Amino acid sequence: MVIAVDGPAGAGKSSVARAVAERLGFTYLDSGAMYRCVALAATERGIDINDGEALGSLARGLEIGFDGKSVILDGEDVSRPIRSKEVTATSSRASAFPQVREAMVARQRELIASGDYVAEGRDIGTVVSPDAPLKVYLTASEQERARRRAAETGEAVERVMAALRVRDARDSGREHSPLRAADDAVALDTTNLSVSAAADEIAGLARERGLA
Ligand code: C5P
Repeated sequence: MVIAVDGPAGAGKSSVARAVAERLGFTYLDSGAMYRCVALAATERGIDINDGEALGSLARGLEIGFDGKSVILDGEDVSRPIRSKEVTATSSRASAFPQVREAMVARQRELIASGDYVAEGRDIGTVVSPDAPLKVYLTASEQERARRRAAETGEAVERVMAALRVRDARDSGREHSPLRAADDAVALDTTNLSVSAAADEIAGLARERGLA
């Protein structure tokens, strides 16, 4: 069973989804990390980031695992390199290709079928798990999302905001599985909400619905 947490970059998905998983004793799934692994592997292996076929076959062959707090790609801990600025930008380009999405969605569905998950991403409630019994769409003001990312990376807020806009536009405007809220998603604006308050709200909804 899965609780879906979708939304744009910087809306608080990772921290909130992690906290909800902890509260409910579910496993946390970071679907964005999987697209980041594809982007990292493509860069390292010199695969053209505009070649959907090549990226798809790369994606199908990758061994991506989650080991507590670490992301493991083909046996190597890539938790840090997948967060680089370059990989962040290329991941949203690679993820626009249906061949890549198909491979990742299949992997995500397999994982989700194996237990109780809180999965975060862009298309969990719309594509990966349209039957999820609880879907949350997290948002926050653009300024706040940029501020959070800048605090993480140490970059200037203006630069982060410019990169965020490009990525949001690409993720929302792509043809395949664009970022959007599922019709039956509960919208939660985290602009003025702490991680813990947002997680309490979602965990409360899960309990109300008899999911935990
Ligand atoms: O969530 P995160 O910022 O780590 O995701 C990196 C990129 O992966 C996003 O910009 C998006 O293009 C892609 N992604 C996606 N579908 C998901 C999760 C992430 O397309 N379910």
